[in-house]
Amino acid sequence: MKIDTKPDESKLSKVTAISDKDKSNITESSVMKIDTKPDELKLSKVTVISDKDKSNITEPRIIESSHSKIISVTQQHSIDYNNPPSWVHMTDDLRITLILHGPDQGKSIDFRSIQTKDGRRFLPHWFKKQLPNSETIDRNWLIYSKNKNALFCFPCCLFEYRQSQIPLIANRQEGFSDWKNINRIEDHETSPDHRKYFVQWKTLEARLKNSQSIDKSLQNAIFLEKERWRHILRAILNSILFCAKNNLALRGSTSEIGVQGSGVFLDIVELLSKYDKTLEELISNHTKSLLFDCTPDVSHNEQMSEIIRYVYIANGKVKIEESFIDFIITEEKTGEGLASDIMKKLQDDQHDIQDARGQGYDNGANMAGNYRGVQARIQEKNNLALYIPCASHCLNLAGVHSASINAEMKHFFETVESIFKFFSRSTSRWTTLMQTLKVSLKGHSGIRWSSKSNAIKPLNTQIKEVYGVLQNMIANSLNADTTSSAQSLLKNINLTFLFYLDVWNQILGQVDRATKVLQMKTLTLDKAASLIQALKNSLQEFRNTEFEENFTRTSTLVNTLGITNTSMRFKKRKDWNFDVFINQLNWRYEKLMEVAYDFGFLSGASLYNMSTIELKKAAMDLAMKYEKDINCAEFIDEITDFQHVVKSIIPDHIKSATVIELLQLIQDYNLKESYPNIEIVFRIFLTMPVTAATCERSFSKLKLIKNYLRSTMGQERLSNLSILSIENEVAGEINFEDVIDEFAAIKSRKVKL
Ligand SMILES: [Zn+2]
Repeated sequence: MKIDTKPDESKLSKVTAISDKDKSNITESSVMKIDTKPDELKLSKVTVISDKDKSNITEPRIIESSHSKIISVTQQHSIDYNNPPSWVHMTDDLRITLILHGPDQGKSIDFRSIQTKDGRRFLPHWFKKQLPNSETIDRNWLIYSKNKNALFCFPCCLFEYRQSQIPLIANRQEGFSDWKNINRIEDHETSPDHRKYFVQWKTLEARLKNSQSIDKSLQNAIFLEKERWRHILRAILNSILFCAKNNLALRGSTSEIGVQGSGVFLDIVELLSKYDKTLEELISNHTKSLLFDCTPDVSHNEQMSEIIRYVYIANGKVKIEESFIDFIITEEKTGEGLASDIMKKLQDDQHDIQDARGQGYDNGANMAGNYRGVQARIQEKNNLALYIPCASHCLNLAGVHSASINAEMKHFFETVESIFKFFSRSTSRWTTLMQTLKVSLKGHSGIRWSSKSNAIKPLNTQIKEVYGVLQNMIANSLNADTTSSAQSLLKNINLTFLFYLDVWNQILGQVDRATKVLQMKTLTLDKAASLIQALKNSLQEFRNTEFEENFTRTSTLVNTLGITNTSMRFKKRKDWNFDVFINQLNWRYEKLMEVAYDFGFLSGASLYNMSTIELKKAAMDLAMKYEKDINCAEFIDEITDFQHVVKSIIPDHIKSATVIELLQLIQDYNLKESYPNIEIVFRIFLTMPVTAATCERSFSKLKLIKNYLRSTMGQERLSNLSILSIENEVAGEINFEDVIDEFAAIKSRKVKL
């Protein structure tokens, strides 16, 4: 093929047009030659040529036109991406070319124009696989070849043809066109051979593409996440502007999207959602968890915060989102009333209660109660919406409970507080104390367990100094009150007190670190479970050694201080009070541990360690619980296969791979089509709520915004959606605590003026 054109006519479209026209005449050795002076060519043209020149003569030469997608291979035949019979001699080069291009599935073909075979023809919806949980996934491996009027499996054709259940779809000469038995393609896509080639295809593709640009995709992911929320807000604002411009009422008779009488604004939102993946996804994500928490606001209304937790995958990056949806004013106090408010709200927001796979609340009886609580009533409607008590509340409650379980423990914490109060009540005592101490003492409240750690840590490290200051005060004081108070404090600082101080200091340090992690919104159940297990283990370790180290340390300290009152009942150390704490942790985390155990076989460590039989058994148990979401038989097949794939893809990392990392792996290598059921199970697990901490965070935020957006239903709807975007955009960019501080600062200045 030779193209003689004058320089000014040498536009890319022209070349394309010619190559299109001549495509039937392309011969085996055809090489594109363009007679033009390089400096007079347009940039696009130059690129085409230089690309061509770079390629080695033995490699396939690619001339791609915009619509025919024909490649010309110098040593081979012409190749049509949509026509596997033309890929006769598969070489590594050709395979790479095909993978980098990706399958031309023939989705844009007008299927109505195709001749029928015994009254049947290919139907476009076969490009999608229907999953049990009513989601669909694209069959990206499936090629409909127009030329052959038959279906081909891209990966099976790409690698070797093997005897599979429907061999014709894997045979690049034949293809499958038995439309009457179209459901046989499902047999093919779940067959071991197909999965093997699918994974080979995807891993090779990922390797080829990864080597091109890792940085770029990361950059993109960050950018897209930000854009996503801007996009929602923009879409909504545009709808409102449109309504306002045309004098249309925003409100309809209902606030539900997609029903009659929903009003122009919601109609537009619905319309947009059809074109906009983001909005659509929020409405149609079929795996989500509900988080609710109540707090009284300034005007004594009970405010219920509504949060939806779900797995969000954007640009191949897996993220766990906890999106703030709205505040609901409720007058209900009972579980029944709250549950019906919640159910009504979910309906208004288009969240199907049947999509819920988890529920998270604080541990109040009206929410968490086993029989009459909200969680029980929602489980009546959907038994898959598992309730998991808020992990950070649990830890707090376990601590508070064990600190007040008996007189001895109560007395210990009271003494800590009275030491603080003795000094803080008087400025002169405080000054005297601070001349000796490096870190100031702190008080602790009964409700917030973490405050105990703040109080105990400085006291424990400086107890010698505090003891010395008290002794000096007694010796030098002219004040009778100070002397007697100091004396009674000194009496309380005995062996028992010092021992508890040392032990609690160690335990609370660990509890404190755990609490901080447990409040993270991206925390997943598997990580929470291993964190709590580690906490229990170390407590158990203390217990088993009977606090030998702490006791030795305390005894030395007692001698140093010259304390004579050593009447601690150490005979009975075995049934000491810290056992209460361990027991509390055991029963409060029972549910969380149970769910984590059910899904435990999905972690990298389990995939590495478990035998195929063990794995199948665990998968079967889980699949039976989630038969609404997944196909049991397929899931069991997938998991054993997945085990090998993970071992081969990340041999070094598998033992420490978490569930979210494995879901990320499925994304990175595009394995969703091959392991759709595993993908769903991963999402269900990651969706399970760990804490209700996001609800609490929302309380402070919404008090700022709520005032501005509240009057009619239509506006409330608007507020829901804008708040949703504000919350996420803001949270992504700035630290909200700063805003609150700033707000508080402005407010407090106003008061002073
Ligand atoms: Zn196949």
